[in-house]
Amino acid sequence: MRINEIIQALEQVAPIAYQESYDNSGLILGDPNWQCTGVLCCLDSTEAVILEAKAAGCNLVIAHHPIIFNGIKQLNGKNYVEKTVITAIKNDIAIYAIHTNLDNIILGVCNSMANKLGLIHKKILAPKSNTSFTENNDNQTVGSGLIAELPEPMEEIGFLQMVQTSFNLRVIRHTVLLNKTIRKVALCGGAGSFLLKNAMAAGADVFISADFKYHEFFDAEERILIADIGHWESEQFTVGLLIDILQAKFPTFAVLKSVIKTNPVNYFL
Ligand SMILES: [Zn+2]
Repeated sequence: MRINEIIQALEQVAPIAYQESYDNSGLILGDPNWQCTGVLCCLDSTEAVILEAKAAGCNLVIAHHPIIFNGIKQLNGKNYVEKTVITAIKNDIAIYAIHTNLDNIILGVCNSMANKLGLIHKKILAPKSNTSFTENNDNQTVGSGLIAELPEPMEEIGFLQMVQTSFNLRVIRHTVLLNKTIRKVALCGGAGSFLLKNAMAAGADVFISADFKYHEFFDAEERILIADIGHWESEQFTVGLLIDILQAKFPTFAVLKSVIKTNPVNYFL
């Protein structure tokens, strides 16, 4: 099977046109006509993951985060991006990124989070209004974040404990507890603070996301509970989602999950 066939299968689910303008999803490195020897899925295609792919006999690494975001003018190994690219080229390993286009589909990154919490009545939090998405005019299935409901209302503490357990978290950074019952839950994998206003407008009792800055916590205005669970933690089920998509299309093909924990953030507790 050619690499291109695998890309087509992914882009049937998460069309490349759904990515945000700043993004760099797609085949970042390699030739779509190469015969694929195996796929390794990961969140971050670091050099260690490229070497993991090599050891496993996989010449295609599918990552959520694009290893190259901005242009590269030199390639001399002075930083981790260049080192990774050089190692991939030397070993004939292709790198494909499926980033905000996977975030922006209803059955994407946020849906995996919502399923882990057992949420129901899931809807896109900020539907795409851009009419250039000609492949799919039903914008209610394309956009950022998710708004959903708990099957049964929960108290805040119990809810946060459930989130901690479901995501195996060491820590949750959150705003002041409001002594409100949690019914509606907004969530966004990765850096989702840009959706706080949408979460509040949608009547969410809590917004689960990551990468909130100090001043952004103030924006909750004691109207919503912000729960910052960490970027890697919020996206940890994304690799499983990629594996599910590919195994459904290619049940007998070698699709592996990276075992390297690439989270650059550590906690000293
Ligand atoms: Zn991310």
